[in-house]
Amino acid sequence: MTVLDRLDATIRLNDDEKMLLDSVRRIGREVLMPNAARYDEKAEFPWDNLKAINELGMNAMFIPEEYGGAPVSFTAYLACNRELTKACAATGIIWSTIFHATSPLVDFASHEQKQRWLPGLAAGGLAALALTEPSGGSDATAMKTRFVPDGDDIIINGSKIFITNGDVCDVILVFGKWAPLGDGKEAISLVVVEKGTPGFEVLRLENKMGMRASSTAAISFDNCRVPRANLIHEPGDGLRLLFGFLGKSRPSVACHALGIARAAFEDAVAYVNERQQFKQRVIDFQGIQFMLADLATDLAMCESWMWQLARRVEDGEEGMNLEASMLKLRASDLAMRISTQAVQLHGGYGYMKDLRVERLMRDAKLTQIWEGANELQRQLIGRDYMARRRA
Ligand SMILES: Cc1cc2nc3c(=O)[nH]c(=O)nc-3n(C[C@H](O)[C@H](O)[C@H](O)COP(=O)(O)OP(=O)(O)OC[C@H]3O[C@@H](n4cnc5c(N)ncnc54)[C@H](O)[C@@H]3O)c2cc1C
Repeated sequence: MTVLDRLDATIRLNDDEKMLLDSVRRIGREVLMPNAARYDEKAEFPWDNLKAINELGMNAMFIPEEYGGAPVSFTAYLACNRELTKACAATGIIWSTIFHATSPLVDFASHEQKQRWLPGLAAGGLAALALTEPSGGSDATAMKTRFVPDGDDIIINGSKIFITNGDVCDVILVFGKWAPLGDGKEAISLVVVEKGTPGFEVLRLENKMGMRASSTAAISFDNCRVPRANLIHEPGDGLRLLFGFLGKSRPSVACHALGIARAAFEDAVAYVNERQQFKQRVIDFQGIQFMLADLATDLAMCESWMWQLARRVEDGEEGMNLEASMLKLRASDLAMRISTQAVQLHGGYGYMKDLRVERLMRDAKLTQIWEGANELQRQLIGRDYMARRRA
């Protein structure tokens, strides 16, 4: 057993969660992995993978029983996310986006709202979360989407870009500004839009570097009318709800990055143990051992931090957005570093599309950009040490 295997053995799961994780590993091996290169090449949405995920009831994992779910711990969610991602990172981002959009409903929606949306999602519905706009990426507060209350309805006008699952979702959580509250961040609010609502349109799908089997849509809302009952919490609560969720969504994105990192590391180790040059295995060169040692050590540190944060989330600890930022920052940089080194260790073969390390390197890049680009994470973490803030 390696250090990383021993670390995996410490992941805190109950017997049902262990069985679930075994099933996720099986569909990863039998369904996702064999098709990952083909879906990537064609940039085709992996419906077969979603079918396998739904046959296991995996959406139910993040939904309470009274709304049709079969909840598991946050640790178990992350462990499953990592296995899916190792098998096919694009499928991992699709499923984790369902979690990112469903969890705010679980945590913040009213009972009536939960009754409307959660059973469908638990049964395999797709969800999306729309924050980013052409004018507001890192600075999400610059968003221009407007919510105008009109009697019992809300009229939505605006557009969003780079929305994962934006074209295939059954429900989409949309951030916009509540017009009567003005144009500042205190106006940001959260509204749910259902598939097929007139005025909600998919403008285009992006042609991406990596995560090609996941869909990334530009969408628009043109006088899109939804019931006021679709507003989550009160007008102006949007930013508070968003911040309330970062402690879970950033570990989720970090876990996705670590799934990519693990897959790349395992492929690299297997290859250098086989490949012979100068009449010895590549791993027999001390320089290569040093490289693997550094990568394995950083992986072990990062994974340990993730499982520790997961336990703290489960124990109900709040206000851990900076800890989550640190994890997202380090995990995504590490995914990029390990996948790049994995390509290097495969030599010329690593540059070919026949091997998955080539895809993993392209997939890894996104993890440094989305869910708050890493420059923003550094800024958030660094600001915490400014004297006036600490005072
Ligand atoms: C494949 C994909 C899927 C996505 N899925 C979703 C989704 O489902 N929902 C959603 O809402 N969004 C999604 N996004 C959007 C993503 O979250 C944004 O792209 C990201 O937040 C960065 O915003 P931006 O692209 O506008 O870049 P910008 O904010 O314009 O940043 C450009 C560069 O400037 C840097 N920068 C910006 N501000 C600062 C600063 N203060 N200090 C230092 N550097 C700074 C950035 O780090 C970056 O390097 C997705 C993006 C991609 C590519």
